[in-house]
Amino acid sequence: MSREGSSIPVKLRNEVAARARFCCEYCLIDETQTGLYCEVDHIIGVKHNGLTDSNHLAYACFNCNRNKGSDMASIDWETNEIVRFNNPRSDIWAEHFRLEGIRMVPTTQIGKVTTTIFRFNDLKRLSERDPNSFL
Ligand SMILES: [Zn+2]
Repeated sequence: MSREGSSIPVKLRNEVAARARFCCEYCLIDETQTGLYCEVDHIIGVKHNGLTDSNHLAYACFNCNRNKGSDMASIDWETNEIVRFNNPRSDIWAEHFRLEGIRMVPTTQIGKVTTTIFRFNDLKRLSERDPNSFL
């Protein structure tokens, strides 16, 4: 366990990647579909004293990791409540989202803020999920 910096040792990165089966744990895209390797995300950012151990890390595609940044929550614009993001270590994905074709449909408040901030349904993201649908 370490709180030092944000670099991830190779062994830990490989462990996180294998656990995720080389797919983003937020949007579920296989890293081979994006042309970029996924990255290791601190679910609780290092600046918030998030730990660098596998129980606090998620495998995340470039887009999910950039859109999330060090955030852990957002505001539900309909209720003005602060709502945390989906946590791949403690949440079951299918309890917060469902797929309709290539679109992610949130089914909970957590799913809603995660879908919005992570921009799951931007055109670029949809075309990654199914490049043939945009030909
Ligand atoms: Zn993703």
